[in-house]
Amino acid sequence: MMNGKQYIDSLKARKPRVYYLGERLRDPYSHPAIIPHMRTAAVTYDLAMEDRHAEIMTATSHLTGEKVSRFTHLFWSVDDLIKKIEMLRLIGRETGTCFQRCVGLDGINAIWSVTYEIDRAKGTEYHAKFRKYLERLQKEDLMSAGAMTDVKGDRSLPPWQQPDPDMYVRIVERRPDGIVIRGAKTHITGAVNSHEILVMPTLGLPPEGADYAVVCAVPIDAPGLTLVFGRQTNDERKEEEGMFDCGTSFGVVGGESTLLFEDVFVPSERVFMAGEGEFAGSLVDRFSSWHRANYGGCKAGNADILLGATALLTEIHGTIKNSIVKDKLTEIVHLVETIYASAVGSSALGTKLPAGNWMVDPLLANTVKQNVTRFLYQVGRLAHDLGGGILSTLPSDADFRNGEIGGLLTKYFAGKEGFPTEEKRKLCRYIENMTSVATLVEALHGAGSPQAQRIVMLRQANLPEKTRMAKKVIGIGKE
Ligand code: SF4
Repeated sequence: MMNGKQYIDSLKARKPRVYYLGERLRDPYSHPAIIPHMRTAAVTYDLAMEDRHAEIMTATSHLTGEKVSRFTHLFWSVDDLIKKIEMLRLIGRETGTCFQRCVGLDGINAIWSVTYEIDRAKGTEYHAKFRKYLERLQKEDLMSAGAMTDVKGDRSLPPWQQPDPDMYVRIVERRPDGIVIRGAKTHITGAVNSHEILVMPTLGLPPEGADYAVVCAVPIDAPGLTLVFGRQTNDERKEEEGMFDCGTSFGVVGGESTLLFEDVFVPSERVFMAGEGEFAGSLVDRFSSWHRANYGGCKAGNADILLGATALLTEIHGTIKNSIVKDKLTEIVHLVETIYASAVGSSALGTKLPAGNWMVDPLLANTVKQNVTRFLYQVGRLAHDLGGGILSTLPSDADFRNGEIGGLLTKYFAGKEGFPTEEKRKLCRYIENMTSVATLVEALHGAGSPQAQRIVMLRQANLPEKTRMAKKVIGIGKE
C-alpha cells in the first residue's frame, strides 16, 4: 500500500496528455488546477496508513490474503458494504469534498461480477484476466477512474444509429492481440490523477450494438488517450496566492475530465468485455446502485463539514442562540442523517451475486441518490440563509491584504469578539464554494441524473405486488 506522498510520486512517473484552458499541461501534477484534487485523493491513501482507521480504510485481499486499501477490495459481505459507507463519510469529513476514488471501487466490483457471468454463459476468459488485473491493482494500490458516461450525441438515437458512430465509445478494430477503441467519455471524476481508466458501457446493448459493449482498462498515459480537464466554478481562485478564496486547499467536486480515445489499442489481457452487450445492462445497473448508495456516505460527510462551518459562522454572527437558527441547523442534521441512514440501509439489505461479491438493495440505493439531488440543495439553501449575503459579496482576500484598505475591511467585517475576521472570511469562502454551481450540479447529476434513479425506483417498487396487497387489505377484486 502507498501513502499520500508515494501516490503523488507514482503519478509523477506517468506522462498523460492533459489539456486545460486551451493549453497542453506539460506537467499536470504540478499545475494549480490539478493539485487540489490530487491532494484530496492522497487523503484516501494517508488515512489507510493510520492504525485507528485500519478497520474502515483497509481490508484483507481475497486474492492474496494481504492487507489492501478498501478502495481496491471487493464487497464480500454486508459488513464490507456498510464499512464502505462509513469510510466515505469519514473521508468526506476529512476533505469536505469529493475524493474521487470510489468510482473505480464500484467499477471493479461491477466488472468482477459481470465477467464471471459472461464466462459462465459463453465460455470466455474475461474473469480470470480481470482477477489478474485486480491483483495488480491491489498490490500496487493503484487508483482507477471509472469511465462510463458517453457524450451520447443525439439522445433520441441508439449508439449504432448515430450519424457519427463515435458518439459512444466503441471497438473499431479487433486484432489477435487486442482491440482498438474510439470515442469520448465525459464527466470522468478524478481521471487526470488516476493511474488507470476503467472503460465501461453506459447502457444495455442489443446485438446491433455489440461494438459498443466494451469493458477494458487503459493506463492514464496510453498512446491515443487525451484528457481535457473541465472548468469549475471559481477555478481561477486556485491560481491566487494561498488559495484563500477557495475556502479550502482541497478541490471543489471531483476534478472531472472529458476523455478522448483516438484509436487506443488495448491488449487482450486488459479487455473484460468485447461485444457481449446482453451483459452491459447488468453492469450499468450494479455499478449505478453501488455508486448511488455512496452518496449517502460521502455527501453526508461533506455536509457535516458544511453544517459545522455554518454553525460556527452563526456563532460569529452572534445568532446561534436564536431558536429559529437552531431549528434551521437541526433541519440540516435531519437531511444529512436521512441520506446516511438509507445508504446504510441499502447496504444492510445487500444480497450475494453469483460471483460472490455483494450487491446493495437497488431500491434503497436509488432512493439515497434521489434524496441527495434534493437535500444537498436544501442544505445549501439553509447555509445561505444562515450565513447571509456576505457569502456572495465578501471582498477578495487580496483586498484584505492591501496595505491601504485591508485594515479597514478587517475592522468592519469583524464579528463576535474573540473570533478573528480572517476565520470568519475563511468560513464564508468554504460555504460559498461548497454550495455553488459545480457542487450542486454534481450532487444532482453525479452517479446519474434524477430521472435515472426514478426509473429504477419504479421498476424496483413492484407496483403489481403492491396492488395485490392493497386489494387483499381492502377486500376488493380477486387475489
Ligand atoms: Fe466518491 Fe462521492 Fe466523489 Fe462519487 S461523489 S467519487 S461517491 S466522493
